[in-house]
Amino acid sequence: MPHATIIGAGIAGTATAIGLTRTGWHVTLHERTDHPETSGAALGIWPTALAALDELGVGDALRAVATPQAAGSIRRPDGAVLAALSAERATRRPGDHVHLVARRDLATLLAAALPPDAVRYGSRIAPAGPGLGGLDDHLDGGADVVVVADGVFSAHRTALLGRRYQARYTGQSGLRGRVAVTTHEVTETWGPGRRFGITPYLDGTTNWYASLDAPPGERAAGGDVAMLRELFAGWHDPIGQVLDVLTEDDVMRHDLYDVHPHLPTYIVSGGSGNAVLVGDAAHGMTPDLGRGACEALVDAATLARCLAPPAASGSGNALGSPSGSVAAGLARYDRLRRRPTQLLQTLARGVGRTAHARHLTGMRDLLLRVAR
Ligand SMILES: Cc1cc2nc3c(=O)[nH]c(=O)nc-3n(C[C@H](O)[C@H](O)[C@H](O)COP(=O)(O)OP(=O)(O)OC[C@H]3O[C@@H](n4cnc5c(N)ncnc54)[C@H](O)[C@@H]3O)c2cc1C
Repeated sequence: MPHATIIGAGIAGTATAIGLTRTGWHVTLHERTDHPETSGAALGIWPTALAALDELGVGDALRAVATPQAAGSIRRPDGAVLAALSAERATRRPGDHVHLVARRDLATLLAAALPPDAVRYGSRIAPAGPGLGGLDDHLDGGADVVVVADGVFSAHRTALLGRRYQARYTGQSGLRGRVAVTTHEVTETWGPGRRFGITPYLDGTTNWYASLDAPPGERAAGGDVAMLRELFAGWHDPIGQVLDVLTEDDVMRHDLYDVHPHLPTYIVSGGSGNAVLVGDAAHGMTPDLGRGACEALVDAATLARCLAPPAASGSGNALGSPSGSVAAGLARYDRLRRRPTQLLQTLARGVGRTAHARHLTGMRDLLLRVAR
């Protein structure tokens, strides 16, 4: 049975482990933290990612805990609609909407689909040196492929491809959370240097997010809630209702990074073996399109398909010689995934800049209509 070592048990690593296991691989997942992910806000899951979850055998488990999103709009602070977003246009087939799911619920359902004891928690894998040699312990230990899924600040990406490919600060800081306010419409509201988003959620609650221009690491001296109330004072309903009930405990804050420049490859093969990058380690993107986790799921399903043994073969290890067949499957994965994910990285950053525009907002509104 071919063996994969996976570094990082976030969404990308866990989903990849599920996909590879389903196609006959033995997997070992190393996760530096000592427990599964239990925090985080909601994630939008687009139809393409839902299709990937179906392929991984957990699509219905996701549908059971997620909230389908209705149509929405992009607005100005006074509430005027800049663009209407159609739920139907994002739909793969009837009923297949963008779904909003708690990150914790997604992590739980993915973890439940793993073979028992697949994850070694508290196992931080540091690169032992530059290039593939830095993974020798795992490749020598018998892994046919090492899957690098250690997130946007990936130390293994740097070791494999060089310091040139780093996480880059976008100039924007993101805040988000969930409050007990009932809302009915998805809205994202764009003002100068900041924006506010509302997504109706389960049981009369609302998932909200905001972003603002800020230097990395900057935190509001008087607390995030007071800062948010000041920055978004007078913005259209129901932003005020959300801010009214907000407490400091409701707010999660992250500075927003993407990977820049785009990677020249998502795979590294050599005499000592093969490594492949998935998820944010490969294509960390800003959350502006809500696609980072979605693309990690599509990576996982695609990689599993590329590394699956030919259906016609009846042999136990149908991949034959790992160095030959695995390398060919990885090359296919790179061809299928690099270009579309890098396009999304560029688009996401562009949307983030456009949303925060301080000048030429008339031109922006025109562009919005065209983009729609
Ligand atoms: C504000 C915000 C909102 C977002 N909203 C959405 C959304 O609506 N929809 C969407 O699709 N995406 C969204 N995203 C993006 C999404 O969160 C990420 O794309 C996704 O979490 C990436 O998953 P990952 O597994 O690649 O990386 P991570 O989640 O970062 O996981 C990496 C894992 O690797 C582990 N690790 C790191 N180094 C090592 C090591 N050396 N050894 C062992 N383990 C290691 C880490 O502990 C971690 O568990 C959002 C992101 C942000 C910041």
